[in-house]
Amino acid sequence: MNATASQHSAKRRFSASAPFDSFDPVETHQAQVPSRTSLSFEVMPPRHDADEAKIDELLATLRSYNPDYISVTSSRNSGWLEGTARFIEKIDARTRIPTLAHLACTAGTRGELIGWINRLMDSGVRGFLALRGDYAEGQTGMPAGYLPHATDLISLIRTLENDQRARFGAGRLAIGVAAYPSGHEESASKDEDIDVLLTKQRLGADFAITQLFFDAEDYLRFAERARLAGVRIPLIPGIMPMTSLARLRRMGQLSGLNVPARLLSRLEAAGPEGEYQTGLDLTAELARTILAAGAGGMHVYTFNRPDTTTELLDRIGIAPPPTG
Ligand code: FAD
Repeated sequence: MNATASQHSAKRRFSASAPFDSFDPVETHQAQVPSRTSLSFEVMPPRHDADEAKIDELLATLRSYNPDYISVTSSRNSGWLEGTARFIEKIDARTRIPTLAHLACTAGTRGELIGWINRLMDSGVRGFLALRGDYAEGQTGMPAGYLPHATDLISLIRTLENDQRARFGAGRLAIGVAAYPSGHEESASKDEDIDVLLTKQRLGADFAITQLFFDAEDYLRFAERARLAGVRIPLIPGIMPMTSLARLRRMGQLSGLNVPARLLSRLEAAGPEGEYQTGLDLTAELARTILAAGAGGMHVYTFNRPDTTTELLDRIGIAPPPTG
């Protein structure tokens, strides 16, 4: 990606929660301003034949941006890791873009996950997003034999990697995790979210991708608190195109987030004809604000929509790099 982040203008702060290691706010602050920003995309395994037909167009569009990686979700609807693995094989066959497999504890027992991690590593996957997965309606804990938390999955992946060290001469595994600028709905407080993120880092997470958020301030404040608490891994903002009022409400419900009234009223005022364009304008404004503040990159939730992804990136000012 060609964009360069502008200087972070946040005030320097010292915090009682700063770690005892060589914490230097100036150094930390500078490390946050990247020389190149990252660009990555999230895609979902196609579920129907109609989706399959659109895959070529989707991959051609995403490839044209020369992204750093594409992450592939995992869900019950797409056959958990079966769908993820099949889609990764397809991406590998058609592009040279590195892939990141989402791996959720809810996808299977510990033993089943070991089988999947090995199968994915055998097929060349070198990056995982280690997640717990969402509980089903009414569920309050994991069944016997399942890993309870993403932290357990990170440890499992690092153990398997360690057992097979000789295989990783040309690159170790990269492990990403989820982070929550507006708080995880099950967490007692935002402090708990930061503590969990620190634990993920300590267990071997290399980077975190955030859940969607609606306010730039939520991300920026979260990133600042995390740094002050000792989080050093990149916190990559997840950007969801807010193209429809109905989807925005649904995504807010699914993730336990309140959609700010300000956004709802802008989209309502635009009406059914204008909500798509207005939503893209609002999303681009959000992305530009956090990039200008030194976010270091972004992960775009594409929902497998190449047209929407292009329109959003155009508005942010990101064009495919020239070829040849
Ligand atoms: P955890 O880190 O386990 O956290 C869940 C809750 O438990 C939090 O309240 C946390 O504070 C608490 N907690 C965490 N660790 C501990 C611990 N060791 N001890 C006690 N409490 C703890 N879901 C899917 O099913 N498939 C996907 O492909 C998918 N992709 C995603 C991509 C991104 C970028 C994000 C942000 C989320 C994604 N999700 C996906 C959703 C995710 O699975 C849910 O948000 C889920 O509710 C929590 O996952 P987690 O990995 O954060 O869980």
